[in-house]
Amino acid sequence: MWVRKSKDELQEDKIAKSKTALKYAAWTFVISISLSIIKDRFIGTGGGTAPWGKPISWHEIHYNIFLYIVFSFLLALAAYKTTTYSKSSTQICNKCNKTQNKGKSSHCKCGGSFINIDLMKWVE
Ligand SMILES: [Zn+2]
Repeated sequence: MWVRKSKDELQEDKIAKSKTALKYAAWTFVISISLSIIKDRFIGTGGGTAPWGKPISWHEIHYNIFLYIVFSFLLALAAYKTTTYSKSSTQICNKCNKTQNKGKSSHCKCGGSFINIDLMKWVE
């Protein structure tokens, strides 16, 4: 049956989630900064002083490195936040185990109430 997770279990979930989020953020940062630099060096920045087809030099990339870092950091931050705040959209009734999508009524026809499935666990 479905039971509510304990405070400790929810805490563990939270830690596991932020570890996953950090991993995503780190990858986002590395991929974003690599792709930005490769694109600018071999394709061009696509605007301003170096339009498409006019790659910029390594010297210019070195000069702009702070911008690449800031841009990639913001993307990584967005990835981190999105992952940590994402919740399942499934709710489950604490009495009859009926499921529904979030947004509908929080009360089940059986008299129970719907709880986000992230807060629940299955026990035999
Ligand atoms: Zn119910």
